[in-house]
Amino acid sequence: MSKHIETKCVQEGWEPKAGEPRVVPIYQSTTFKYDTAAQLGDLFDLKAAGHFYTRLSNPTLEAVEKKIAALEGGVAAMVTSSGQAASLVSVLVLCKAGDHAVCSSAIYGGTYNLFSSTMSRMGIEFTFVPPDADEATLRGAVKENTKLIFGESLSNPTLDVLDIEMYAKVAHENNLPLLVDNTFPTPVNCRPFEFGADIVIHSTSKYMDGHAVSLGGAIVDSGNFNFAEYPEKYPMLCEPEPSYHGTNFTEAFGKLAYILLARAKYMRDLGVQMSPQNGFLLSMGLETLALRMERHCHNARLIAEYLSGHDKIEWVIFPGLESSPQYERAKKYMPGGTSGVISFCVKGGRENAGIFMESLRLACIATHVADLRTCLLHPASTTHRQLSDEQLAGAGIDPGLIRFSVGIEHAEDIIEDIGQALEKIKI
Ligand SMILES: *Cc1c(COP(=O)(O)O)cnc(C)c1O
Repeated sequence: MSKHIETKCVQEGWEPKAGEPRVVPIYQSTTFKYDTAAQLGDLFDLKAAGHFYTRLSNPTLEAVEKKIAALEGGVAAMVTSSGQAASLVSVLVLCKAGDHAVCSSAIYGGTYNLFSSTMSRMGIEFTFVPPDADEATLRGAVKENTKLIFGESLSNPTLDVLDIEMYAKVAHENNLPLLVDNTFPTPVNCRPFEFGADIVIHSTSKYMDGHAVSLGGAIVDSGNFNFAEYPEKYPMLCEPEPSYHGTNFTEAFGKLAYILLARAKYMRDLGVQMSPQNGFLLSMGLETLALRMERHCHNARLIAEYLSGHDKIEWVIFPGLESSPQYERAKKYMPGGTSGVISFCVKGGRENAGIFMESLRLACIATHVADLRTCLLHPASTTHRQLSDEQLAGAGIDPGLIRFSVGIEHAEDIIEDIGQALEKIKI
């Protein structure tokens, strides 16, 4: 298969044989038929590969999983019902009550709630470090019971670019895997495995789907982290698993141990699978991902430049701008562009932010981002409303911050819309 991501987006995942459908079909079936009980028994025992119940796997989902694994350069992927489910499972595979994880504080608000509240009630403790933490700070956050380090390649909504190489270095020095949420740049713009990340997760509800039609998530395994070397730290992967007749996952599956435990145990037990219909929609979205990302990034750059030169704008965050403190890092990790998301603040704070947003005609207010239609959101009053002002400051979010998700319409139309809305505010 081609090394070019544009070709992979279109061609990977589904390879029909003669007479089979060109496009991956929706296998709308909960279950699959076998001739003997023994055949089915082998599937239950993970002795043979095959589909038997859609909570564990399904051919439509398998095709989209193969496409995503190929795009990231991983050994295998697993899709889930949402990005939240992907984050949850990616951590649960490695952590039980009493364990600890280190995480950049510049992460999506939903992930922050999941880690700091829900998972902390489950007994899994997170230490959050500032996104620009240096090596010593990051190293200092690691404890004896730490099982993983987590970060977002391009954070939602503050657009901090993670120093993936440095995070991977500290993680590996401490014999820990680095998990990276790569939702915003997508594998078109950033491939964290090439910089040392071990596991990548996605909310496929964003650019990957792209059309705002289906929720979903994905976990991708690079296969590079050798859990078998640390049996005391990762007993779940290195000791017999009682719910699978004593299967030792690292012995039985090698490089696939992590992603297979995620599926065979956590997807099975939690039921967070994607529906075949959503898998089909996601597959369609992925086919045009490279093309869409190019336009999103092109438009976003023009709009970021326009906003930076506007006298009613307080500040603009877009790592693709040469003036951005993130520019050099973005160039290194996301040479083809970052994403279509821009964060900015209009002068006059919260009140003017409201007037501006309500005056837009083309861009619509929506709890969404990374959609082909231009949309925007005020995080302090929506996605991050659970956070106190102190926590907001910790996550780098100004109460006046607007998260603007540039779509694939013509840039001139988006700029005209922003321009007329800015005329409505007084400074
Ligand atoms: C939206 C988002 C999530 C959560 O994904 P859902 O599909 O909405 O559950 C996780 N991480 C990032 C970076 C996101 O933008």
